[in-house]
Amino acid sequence: METKELKEQLFYKKQSVYEKADEKAIDAAYDFAVDYMKYLDDAKTEREAVDAAIVIAEAAGFKPYSLGQALNVGDKLYYNNRGKNLFLFTIGSENLENGIRISAAHIDSPRIDIKPVPLYEDEGMSFLKTHYYGGIRKYQWLAIPLALHGVVIKADGTSVNVVIGEDDNDPVLYINDLLPHLAANYNTKPLGSAIEGEKLNILVGSRPLGNEDNAIKLNTMKILNEKYGIVEEDFLTAELSIVPAQKARDVGLDRSLIGAYGHDDRVCAYPALKAIIDSADSEHTLMCILADKEETGSDGNTGMQSDFMMDLIDEISIARGANPRIVRANSKCLSADVSAAYDPNFAEVFEKRNSALLSCGVVLTKYTGSRGKGSTNDAHAEFIGFVRRAMAEYGVIWQAGELGRVDVGGGGTVAKYISMHNIDVVDLGVPVIAMHAPFEVISKVDLYEAYRAFCAFCKF
Ligand code: MN
Ligand code: MN
Repeated sequence: METKELKEQLFYKKQSVYEKADEKAIDAAYDFAVDYMKYLDDAKTEREAVDAAIVIAEAAGFKPYSLGQALNVGDKLYYNNRGKNLFLFTIGSENLENGIRISAAHIDSPRIDIKPVPLYEDEGMSFLKTHYYGGIRKYQWLAIPLALHGVVIKADGTSVNVVIGEDDNDPVLYINDLLPHLAANYNTKPLGSAIEGEKLNILVGSRPLGNEDNAIKLNTMKILNEKYGIVEEDFLTAELSIVPAQKARDVGLDRSLIGAYGHDDRVCAYPALKAIIDSADSEHTLMCILADKEETGSDGNTGMQSDFMMDLIDEISIARGANPRIVRANSKCLSADVSAAYDPNFAEVFEKRNSALLSCGVVLTKYTGSRGKGSTNDAHAEFIGFVRRAMAEYGVIWQAGELGRVDVGGGGTVAKYISMHNIDVVDLGVPVIAMHAPFEVISKVDLYEAYRAFCAFCKF
């Protein structure tokens, strides 16, 4: 045998989707991206992501589920957990004790939250105090157009939704940055500590109402009162967040990439949602989880450390006459989360052979964690083998990848919280450039391979 053939037979080689897939598949990927970008614009917070997902699911025949409800083969249901966490599931024809096929993504993204007593004025400007949410590089959020999203619960218990900065006619908000002329002392500080959290104050006004104390604050509050009927005390019972005002856009002259806020992790949540909808005729019982609070450690009863997922599996098992412990032992889960795309501009933090390469397909990550596999599920080879066979069966283009060089940092996903319940789980997702930045970038063909991977997992 020629050595060239022998190499082809024996060596593993990552290949670009552009080399491996045909023209038709690439066109399909670019078409899929259009609806994904619309979802991104509708879903900048976990609440909005739940609402937008329900609209899509209901259009496909999914109906609301209540705990204790009877379940039949062919049912397509969803459970909205407090408006921030969504469970979709379908009841398959096979014995439930063969397990459930679960895809779990998160729909919260790093952002800047408004404090309970936020509004003040100082020397000609009014501001909102903030407390950032998740792992942001603070300097990236200065001097860019920002939007305010969230909900306010008023004294009488009624709620009002707030969105300012998304309509082209809306004003946007802002965090002040320093001019280079006076930045000499700042320019020599380490990036990570140059901007303190307490400097992330949101500029919301500068025009006074009257000429007494706090006239700018008064005008700002009056505008909010006229638009939303709220008073200052209502901030105490609100969840308001600052997100980038930018919409999702094609990136690159060839339009091959998508730039947007919140790819992590809607770039996995959206294809996982579409996959359960498009695979509802599978003989397997399927579940898609869109979780909250991943970026702050999956705490709280809308995060994946909550017992609610187990309650739901218990309820489904009881309704179908199955033993929930057997159901869990045989269930399989894709923890659908992003990984870092290898970036030649920052080559020194990656280990190229084991990094996800852009446009080389969906990335399967055996372990996450940090400092020597600390705090990771580290998926079993047997289970990865199962996923590998599912991908092969459906021709999904995938690659192995880990986050970066062993000693430079690390991260985690919901995988370990799901594995705690005796469910096999592995991380699978889309490689992202500039993860957690206000404007992250992904490849359209990787997004589509993620969708195809979730479909393969639902059906295999
Ligand atoms: Mn994530
Ligand atoms: Mn993240």
